[in-house]
Amino acid sequence: MNLILLGPPGAGKGTQAKRLEDAYGLIQLSTGDMLRAAVASGSEIGQKAKEIMERGELVSDEIMIAMIRDRIQQPDCVHGFILDGFPRTTVQAEVLDAMLANMDVKIDHVIEMTVDDAALVERITGRYSCAKCGAGYHDKYQQPETDGVCDKCGSTEFSRRKDDKAETVTSRLQAYHAQTAPLLPYYKAKGVLKAVDGMADIDEVTSQIELVLEAA
Ligand code: AMP
Repeated sequence: MNLILLGPPGAGKGTQAKRLEDAYGLIQLSTGDMLRAAVASGSEIGQKAKEIMERGELVSDEIMIAMIRDRIQQPDCVHGFILDGFPRTTVQAEVLDAMLANMDVKIDHVIEMTVDDAALVERITGRYSCAKCGAGYHDKYQQPETDGVCDKCGSTEFSRRKDDKAETVTSRLQAYHAQTAPLLPYYKAKGVLKAVDGMADIDEVTSQIELVLEAA
């Protein structure tokens, strides 16, 4: 089974993708994570992407398509993948379709996670993650059980994304509405789009996604 999670930054795509990885044995393909790894490694792509990401704009289609083309052909993707953060433009979606047709692979569901813009700023600016295992937390909605200690791995080091600042969030939301939201009618026309309420709590959103996957 192959899925696309579609929704604005902060909708909970990464959180749900991690849960679906565990529950269905799928691989999460997060282009944001790939880019952050490229930035951290100082690679040529990382150097090109760093400032664009810090401004909250989109990295070029050319870079993103090359990145996903390499990743999606790796053997671990054959049992199914979850695209998280890709495609983000109509060009990316069209090239993805052609790429998958060549591989004889199809997208089973595109799941739109709907969230009010007003809620997103608070969600994004409050989030942080364990610096060691990547487990996600939030200042208000999801604190570790023991203050300052990661529930999953016990680490006491946490980090926040540079682009999760309020100023940058506004640009990221603008990029979403202008460049990514047009993908909703694109996938609706293909009959694969299903919406879930991203404002519900995390477990409820997971249940709604599971209903979509299991109704198929
Ligand atoms: P994310 O972790 O998905 O919120 O992505 C963080 C940032 O990486 C975005 O704000 C973009 O600058 C960049 N990015 C991630 N995926 C894409 C993509 N498919 N196309 C263009 N830029 C992307």
